[in-house]
Amino acid sequence: MNLPVKFIEKYQQLLGEEATAFLTSLQTLKVQKGFRLNPLKPNFKQVKIDLSQPLAYVATGYLGAVSGRSLEHQTGYLYSQEPSAMYVAEVAAVQPGERILDLCAAPGGKSTQLAGKLQGQGLLVANEIDAKRARVLAENLERTGATNVQILNEQPAKLAKKFKEFFDKVLVDAPCSGEGMFRKDPSAITYWSPGYPRECANRQREILKSAWQMLKPGGQLIYSTCTFAPEEDEQIVAWLLAEYPTLKLLPLKKYSGMDSGRPEFADGRAELTKTIRLFPHHFQGEGHFIAKFQDMRPQSTQKPKKSKKRFNQFFRVLNPSERGYWQEFCQLQFGRQLFEFADLRVLNDKLYYVKPHWPDLTGLRVVRPGLELGVFKKKRFEPAYGFALSLDPTLCQRVIELSSDQWNQYVQGHPLQLSSIAKKNGWYLLTCQQKAFSFGKVTNQVLKNYFPKGLRLRYGQR
Ligand code: SAM
Repeated sequence: MNLPVKFIEKYQQLLGEEATAFLTSLQTLKVQKGFRLNPLKPNFKQVKIDLSQPLAYVATGYLGAVSGRSLEHQTGYLYSQEPSAMYVAEVAAVQPGERILDLCAAPGGKSTQLAGKLQGQGLLVANEIDAKRARVLAENLERTGATNVQILNEQPAKLAKKFKEFFDKVLVDAPCSGEGMFRKDPSAITYWSPGYPRECANRQREILKSAWQMLKPGGQLIYSTCTFAPEEDEQIVAWLLAEYPTLKLLPLKKYSGMDSGRPEFADGRAELTKTIRLFPHHFQGEGHFIAKFQDMRPQSTQKPKKSKKRFNQFFRVLNPSERGYWQEFCQLQFGRQLFEFADLRVLNDKLYYVKPHWPDLTGLRVVRPGLELGVFKKKRFEPAYGFALSLDPTLCQRVIELSSDQWNQYVQGHPLQLSSIAKKNGWYLLTCQQKAFSFGKVTNQVLKNYFPKGLRLRYGQR
């Protein structure tokens, strides 16, 4: 890898004697792979993957490489993520029931981890400004099976107008100069110039201004980057502390190999050592920076306003025939009604699970307003892929367990001839190794293919 001369000179000056070890690690050491298991899945540790290298600092994290084409990945049982990146959502210390915003969320490494920590209680709003990346974010979040996530594709400033002082915790995993990713993705070097970190820092300040507006009094802000640049790390933290006097830095637990932030890289304030720097010559992972702030304004004692009217403006309620199709589906599949009608809404003929107290999304670019349960077509209901991924097969009455070969055929888009046991016509949850991966429809012993077309192309031909 050819590091830019100006980059080398900059870090020789900043790191002094340590620069050689740092620069050598970027050029010689291999990228350390890792993955996380998903605690939202039933029996989530039952995976055919080597779990012999657990990470001390992430409850569900492991060292090791996993294939994006594996059954475990495709059913959302695991997420491939480099080890440093996993510590960000961990320090967020999310509690079930909190309202969390992941403001720069795609492709979803941190969001999928945050969703796991919420355990289905509270709300995660995952936002991504880039439309294409927001779709990838939605795919990754959908696979987790999380039921309490809204996915948006908005500019932070626009969100700030809507979600004033709304979130208990806001994560800004900022777009940055990406120096920490040079080793993992050498193409990141081509964007780099000596002035690039400063450009990124300007953008980070704008994003953080919006983040601040959305933070509840008494809430917590987590800021992270994947760069070594002081302009985007310690200097942004110092700027935040000066700009918002009620923000206080929280000390972060440092595990073996984790460095403290460096006061001398900013305005010299000693408390910058509470932040974390992950350097590849000290830590088994790529470059990262993490800071966590506590807002000291008193928490509001007022209950948030509930407005049914605003909720209904964005969605509509089910009409009587839609209620009938849904009830019939539930009776066959679960032997009971799965949700209260108060938590079900329709948007563009799609049925969603959404809580009435979730925020009004009118006027925003919405990728997923809640868990997509399915779509109402002419005189029928078709269950959605995301719904299948959220289900525990042991709670379902109509399940077809497929072999690995059949699963492989199905995710490539092929229908399957069912020979062994005669199945009644209708919808079935499909599983492989007891892991739910789709719904399929049986018609006269043929299992018709309902695996999403966009995913077939990428998942086929392993
Ligand atoms: N948190 C993600 C994860 O763990 O997978 C990675 C986020 S990445 C470091 C930063 C994201 O910020 C990118 O997806 C990028 O598209 C987005 N972004 C770029 N410009 C932005 C802006 N002005 N406001 C908000 N997000 C922006």
